[in-house]
Amino acid sequence: MSSSQRLLNLLKEKFGFDRFREHQEEVCIHVSEGHDTLLVMPTGAGKSLCFQLPGLALGGTTLVICPLIALIDDQVAKLQELGLSAASIHSGCSREDSRIVCQKYLADQLDYLFVAPERLALPGFIQLLAKKKPSLIAIDEAHCISQWGHDFRPDYRLLGERLEELRSSAPIIALTATATPQVQSDIVKQLRMTDATIYAHGFRRTNIAIENIESKKSQRLAIVKQVLAQPDSRPAILYSPTRKIAEEFAEQLGDEAEAYHAGLPPERRQAIQSSFLAGHVDIIVATVAFGMGIDKANIRSVIHVGFPSSVEGYYQEIGRAGRDGKPSKALMLYSYADMKTHEFLFKKSYPEQKDLTKLLKSIPKDGCLVELMETPNDIDLRNSLEKLLIHGAIESHGDMIVPTGRPWVATYEAQREHRQNQLYNVMTYAKNFQTCRMLQLMTYFGDPDADGEGCGRCDICTGESSTCIEKRPLTHQEQILIRKIADGLKSTRYGSSKPKLFKATLEPLGHSRGIFDSLLEVLIRNGFAKVEPKSFETNEGRSITYEAVLAKNTLLQVDIESLMIQELNIKGAKKSTRKSEPLTKRLKKQTKFITDHVDEELFEKLRAWRLKESKRSKVAAYVVLSNKTLSAIASSRPRNEDDLLDIPGFGPRKSEKYGRQLIDLVNNS
Ligand code: ADP
Ligand code: MG
Repeated sequence: MSSSQRLLNLLKEKFGFDRFREHQEEVCIHVSEGHDTLLVMPTGAGKSLCFQLPGLALGGTTLVICPLIALIDDQVAKLQELGLSAASIHSGCSREDSRIVCQKYLADQLDYLFVAPERLALPGFIQLLAKKKPSLIAIDEAHCISQWGHDFRPDYRLLGERLEELRSSAPIIALTATATPQVQSDIVKQLRMTDATIYAHGFRRTNIAIENIESKKSQRLAIVKQVLAQPDSRPAILYSPTRKIAEEFAEQLGDEAEAYHAGLPPERRQAIQSSFLAGHVDIIVATVAFGMGIDKANIRSVIHVGFPSSVEGYYQEIGRAGRDGKPSKALMLYSYADMKTHEFLFKKSYPEQKDLTKLLKSIPKDGCLVELMETPNDIDLRNSLEKLLIHGAIESHGDMIVPTGRPWVATYEAQREHRQNQLYNVMTYAKNFQTCRMLQLMTYFGDPDADGEGCGRCDICTGESSTCIEKRPLTHQEQILIRKIADGLKSTRYGSSKPKLFKATLEPLGHSRGIFDSLLEVLIRNGFAKVEPKSFETNEGRSITYEAVLAKNTLLQVDIESLMIQELNIKGAKKSTRKSEPLTKRLKKQTKFITDHVDEELFEKLRAWRLKESKRSKVAAYVVLSNKTLSAIASSRPRNEDDLLDIPGFGPRKSEKYGRQLIDLVNNS
């Protein structure tokens, strides 16, 4: 019998499945042939089978290392239900139970032994296991091993070293749902898998239409309401950055919506989950606490009401949409201001290394009580000590903390930098308007199928919005302003911050930052410019980040007249808020106008026309049109009555009265 036939038989016999899911067979064969493997597939793809099945095929016991007790209990229960022999050892087990499990293991009565990584640190435990070596070692949630993971613990870092004694012939399979190629190589390195094959697959979701909308906080409720008004957008999960916003949105969205966050009592959370699963509640507004164990197949949309703090988390969350395979949406509402908020929080939870060093130096060599410590440079003491602890700079003995003298800076800096980059990666993803959203995500996780076709569903592939964004050609005046911005960009070779570029281009013409942003966005969306987070150090050694705008080579060939502008069209949004008005209206309201490049000849013609008109209608010349308006016409050369309406001092009434004559005048000169 071929090995693949044997595996298929085991699959049917032991697990009751008819066939392999995608990539499972390939991985199972590889592992059962004794090769080290790193498997990266999204949650729900069926990774567990890829160690469970080869484990049976290899015979003996599979040792499974898993960081979460809840996950261990769940997996053990499932395997036992299948009639397989599985047991666990972790801090939740009694000493007596653990002893019995060890005996079973040594008597070769276990198919699977699950342990928490902390166990391997206990003196003698590894040596005990080594008396009968496992035939396969599986490491679940392997991203925790990487020094870059936010769950990083020294215990995981030492895993590679500790497993050495158990390995001899046992292959290792490490599994995770979230690891970028950088984290993947770190896992391989930490686990000392010298000859590992990395499988990163299955990140393409074909039924999720992704759309990212840059929007202000004040606009988001209206956008969400508009989206959820479509019945095919529900059931929905909204991810909110804070509990407060979750409460607020749930309140505003009415009876069908419930807030869900860690501040609610467990019974309440349980009740909300059940009503959502049963379909009594259609919309959940949750903080990231929600969704770990949610298995609801018909979720039609996942909406991020704010900037997610990593692409990894974002992908996990949107992955909850459309498990039934039917068309679903993933919408992200974000802004640069959101990212700055995250950055602020990041700086609080990851203090600068020199601040931690100062704190560390203030701890006496033979230790001290945490209560007696003074906090230098007003950093968060508990959080800072936690970081020092995680990275091995101190140890805690009861209430005492003691410096270890061990190196800690490198892993801390690596983790800190990685965390910050994760934040920027979300921005880069949001602001990449050139590549299909799904392909961007697949590339992020190193899925080799990312060189294929675009998804055909996202805002990039379709070139349009499924929700509330409308496209229109640029007005003549907008074209002029965009050209100004483009020229400004071309002259800054290394890019410029947004405020600087604004100062150099539209501000002198009296236009607002909002208009500048909207027009710059047109260049970015169309691939003529890009935005990158950059940072610099202040004299005090603090790093400050900003959004740098850079011209792309394509900018030299930009055909401004063919560009389209996208605008939010939110039904039912309060019209009074100036910022949600269409750009053309806002432009019109601005009093100052471009007065450079005034066509003097045309200006004189217009003045002559105005004189005639004022005599004819017996009103003062400035009542007909002001000098400012005339020079605006002479500089922007409106081609039609729409363009005219963009000019300050020009309303529909004047346009009706003088529009035709003025357009003719412009066209004929
Ligand atoms: P992951 O660890 O990748 O998040 P799991 O291993 O927990 O995913 O598997 C998710 C679900 O898919 C489980 O309920 C599992 O029983 C099921 N499953 C796995 N492989 C198959 C298969 N070949 N056929 C049908 N169901 C499968
Ligand atoms: Mg899993």
